[in-house]
Amino acid sequence: MRILLVEDEQVFAGKLVDWLTRADYVVDHAATGGAAEALLKSESYRVIVLDIGLPDIDGLSLLRQWRRNHRLEPVLILTARSKWMERVEGLRAGADDYLPKPFHFEELVARLDVIVRRSEGRLSSRLSAGGFVLADESRSLTCPDGSEHTLTATEFRLMRCLISRPGRVFSTGELIDELYNIDRSPTRNVVQVYITRLRKIVGKERIRVLRGQGYYFDRSVQNVREPDR
Ligand code: CA
Repeated sequence: MRILLVEDEQVFAGKLVDWLTRADYVVDHAATGGAAEALLKSESYRVIVLDIGLPDIDGLSLLRQWRRNHRLEPVLILTARSKWMERVEGLRAGADDYLPKPFHFEELVARLDVIVRRSEGRLSSRLSAGGFVLADESRSLTCPDGSEHTLTATEFRLMRCLISRPGRVFSTGELIDELYNIDRSPTRNVVQVYITRLRKIVGKERIRVLRGQGYYFDRSVQNVREPDR
């Protein structure tokens, strides 16, 4: 899942990037409001972590601006512990949640999981479609026949993206955005490679391709055939 981290304290931001990466997020970091704006113009994110105290623009103003411009990504704001008004103003400005600094990293990840889940209209930390169940915490996929498969980090991200919105067609570019941060520029056929690997688990007819448009997860397949080998 791709995340934008807007935080100006370099050392702290570096630690957050490491932690979030270990928690299977794909992270882009912006040290200023301007850098965040530039990234948002070209990239797409599932969730944004926004520090309120930025050097060039106040984080709350930035957030208000995003909401005015119909930017709907869930946003978690990082605030100073002593400034309770900041948290109230943040929520009123359109933040989905807040975390006062300092915080435990586990709490950040737990809160991010909740706001993403809420934005996808889910009650549980599991994603399911067409009899398949994908569990966030164990990175495992359970198939309709009951078999369970542990996915690699990249396979998991790709599967998560497809299964979270069955029927929605994702272009190769969108899938690359989900899999890699802006510092990496993989070749486009890397998506094809991972799609082939997932199809071996879920069956070829489950992940469909629309030529020239992209891939989608088909939840409506009735007869589950043998996986494509
Ligand atoms: Ca700051």
